[in-house]
Amino acid sequence: MLIVQKYGGTSVGNPERIKNVANRVCRTKEAGHDVVVVVSAMSGETDKLINLAAQVNDNPDPREMDMLVSTGERVTIALLAMAIQALGHQAQSFTGRQAGIISDCVHTKARIEKITGERVREAIKEGKIAVVAGFQGINEKSDVTTLGRGGSDLTAVAIAAALKADYCDIYTDVDGVYTTDPNIVPQARKLDKISYDEMLEMASLGAKVLQTRSVEFAKKYNVPVRVLSSFNDNPGTLVTKEDADMEKVVVSGVAYDKNQVKVTVTGVPDKPGVAAKIFNTISGANVIVDMIIQNIGEGGLTDMSFTVPRTDSKKIMEVMKKVVAEIGAKGVNLKEDIAKVSIIGVGMRSHSGVAARMFSALAKEGINIMMISTSEIKISCVIDAKYTELAVRVLHETFEMDKAA
Ligand code: ADP
Ligand code: ASP
Ligand code: MG
Repeated sequence: MLIVQKYGGTSVGNPERIKNVANRVCRTKEAGHDVVVVVSAMSGETDKLINLAAQVNDNPDPREMDMLVSTGERVTIALLAMAIQALGHQAQSFTGRQAGIISDCVHTKARIEKITGERVREAIKEGKIAVVAGFQGINEKSDVTTLGRGGSDLTAVAIAAALKADYCDIYTDVDGVYTTDPNIVPQARKLDKISYDEMLEMASLGAKVLQTRSVEFAKKYNVPVRVLSSFNDNPGTLVTKEDADMEKVVVSGVAYDKNQVKVTVTGVPDKPGVAAKIFNTISGANVIVDMIIQNIGEGGLTDMSFTVPRTDSKKIMEVMKKVVAEIGAKGVNLKEDIAKVSIIGVGMRSHSGVAARMFSALAKEGINIMMISTSEIKISCVIDAKYTELAVRVLHETFEMDKAA
């Protein structure tokens, strides 16, 4: 078999852990498989680099940011290749460029366009273990790009798709995908399997165990992804196509996201074309908008609120101040202490009253709901950030997620 293994930051957090990863990789190789390993930077390294940038410039150039943060993964690929060699196996490290990971030009959140992968294929053919830097690619101008936070997951899935690997194994610091973050709710239960669609919602709604785009990619190319622990040999979670059993469970997970902020534009002229103008400008600035609500107009004016990633707070306020002047709105304000809690499950398609149960559970705890959004398989509520943990626990209990179906 050809197996792609990805090890996250905690799993390569120090030299001992890198040696542990080398051992695991060699075990897989010795079992007769071809192995491509994708690694993240050592835990905390990417944050440290981002912090360094902030100390020299309040608004660093995204191209230079990518040049900077891509260095974290260069350190770990070289160290892991050395550690594997120390165990008597052949290994070779590859940067994103050497692995042929071609992306678009959107620095700090680039999309993978194609993977040529020649050097990696060659290395495998020669019996070597290929160690590829996660999180990075190269654009048409040969500039280094990065794939968004948590982007090593995407590197792994995309390489697995390009090489038609049998499995893409994501090794992390928990032994699978749980009903909710096991570090927040001790009663969280590990799932044996989860559908691509549920995992996609869980990830995009804040469960950082897999990066959202990596799940999108896995679904598109049908890559079998397993989430496993790098610290033990427990069976993990398989992310796969939906099957009939999955619909029986009403809610399979709860996620939370504290990484968004709420922007409110007040006194917006209530006429056709205004919303289009606002959101076209925002998309032109490459900011992704999540939830949107518009209040009922009064006297020809209305208020509009939407959420965007916290990392775009500064940029969005700059953009919005200009738009507000152009459309003749009254003003714009930012609310930062919010969180989004969501329940997810393909079973919602065939069960009624799920939203009512969610809202009642939050109300019973005195938690006010500021925004609501739904899709076929999820319901999300924006609440005050200070109630996040409480809300997650209460929802986990209400929908009895600690009990197997
Ligand atoms: P890595 O550095 O290996 O990429 P991450 O920190 O990105 O690891 O992701 C693993 C973390 O995801 C876990 O430590 C856990 O706190 C968090 N997490 C959030 N939601 C879930 C969930 N539903 N199941 C498992 N882990 C989750
Ligand atoms: N090192 C990058 C980050 O911290 C990518 C990753 O870990 O997947 O976001
Ligand atoms: Mg991660």
